[in-house]
Amino acid sequence: MHEKAMPLIEMGLCDRCLGRFFSDWLHGIDNPERGRKIRAELGINKGKESCFLCGDAFENLHEKAKWVMESLEDIEFSTFLIGSRFDRETLDREEEIRQAYGLNGESIKVEFNRELGKELERISGKNFSREHPDVEILYDTRYDDISVQINPVFIYGRYRKLVRGIPQTRWPCRYCHGKGCEKCNYTGKMYPESVEEIIAAPFMEISGAEEHALHGMGREDIDALMLGTGRPFVLELKSPKKREFDLEEMAERINSSGKVEVEGLRYSSKAEVRRIKASRAEKTYVVRVELEEDVEEEKLKKALQMLRTTIAQRTPQRVAHRRADLVRERRVFEIRLLEKKGPIASIEVRGEAGLYIKELMHGDEGRTEPSLASALGTGCKVLELDVIAIQEKEE
Ligand SMILES: [Zn+2]
Ligand SMILES: [Zn+2]
Repeated sequence: MHEKAMPLIEMGLCDRCLGRFFSDWLHGIDNPERGRKIRAELGINKGKESCFLCGDAFENLHEKAKWVMESLEDIEFSTFLIGSRFDRETLDREEEIRQAYGLNGESIKVEFNRELGKELERISGKNFSREHPDVEILYDTRYDDISVQINPVFIYGRYRKLVRGIPQTRWPCRYCHGKGCEKCNYTGKMYPESVEEIIAAPFMEISGAEEHALHGMGREDIDALMLGTGRPFVLELKSPKKREFDLEEMAERINSSGKVEVEGLRYSSKAEVRRIKASRAEKTYVVRVELEEDVEEEKLKKALQMLRTTIAQRTPQRVAHRRADLVRERRVFEIRLLEKKGPIASIEVRGEAGLYIKELMHGDEGRTEPSLASALGTGCKVLELDVIAIQEKEE
């Protein structure tokens, strides 16, 4: 092993760079110390602090760390990750030496990131995190340039939608695609507000985030209410300058909208966004229908019982323009009559994820079978549809 070190010392490497090429050998000490040891064992006393390979990258690490902190001055974070850029020549030389002498060892970038990270932890009290860093710092050693990427913050909760006519997420104007035009009153939106914007508003104000996104466990129709225990969601705030919130206060401010209520707010993660998007939760609805011809209550109840089965649903006409046209099988687990007044009936349905309730009622011109309309042999119009429960399964 030591014979391999001789030519490296001769080419003028400093102790740190020497030690780094042998980092898979002699553990528990840092690169400069390892270099010193190797040199001493070879009987060479004269060591160097830096060399042609590392230049001044490891000099003034304290100053560099202080400077990183200065560039993060207005950003709230508790964990960070450091990356770095070195000039091509340095990286090529490092690789050439490795190849020429059959060495491994860690790269100069890895050592730099670690050493600067340690210094940063020391002066700031923040923690290095590879898994979930709040901020990612890129230190360009060529120009002593620092760039910072602020990672999103995720907030989980459940929402109720108390009024009709609000979409779940911001819906860009279909004429101008969000740029703003006469049709949308230069708002760039089809609807002046959304569940997403109402929930995001107080967070945006405090966090100074650049953008937001709402990841819901499915979505209700614009004209449907979302009641009961609410729909699980994760709010994502992109590039936030502040990432710690008084969640109770946030909930109060959202709830004071009178349109959307939230509960169970807590910090979340990207992994939970995936869980929420992949969820196949059962849902319970209350649907209010008007029958074309009034029928006896008993006849209606019998027809509903016939719907407690597997339903074949061809993609509804109203969504056919954005979904593949195919027949899906979905189960109705429970269905019962809540109230009937003349031709108007309220019905509660608990069904499998993806079951289209409006179509289950009116039949979508035979595309959904069976349907209440086909079971009764009379037309059926949906007046209102509300989601009253989403059975969220814990992973
Ligand atoms: Zn060096
Ligand atoms: Zn527009």
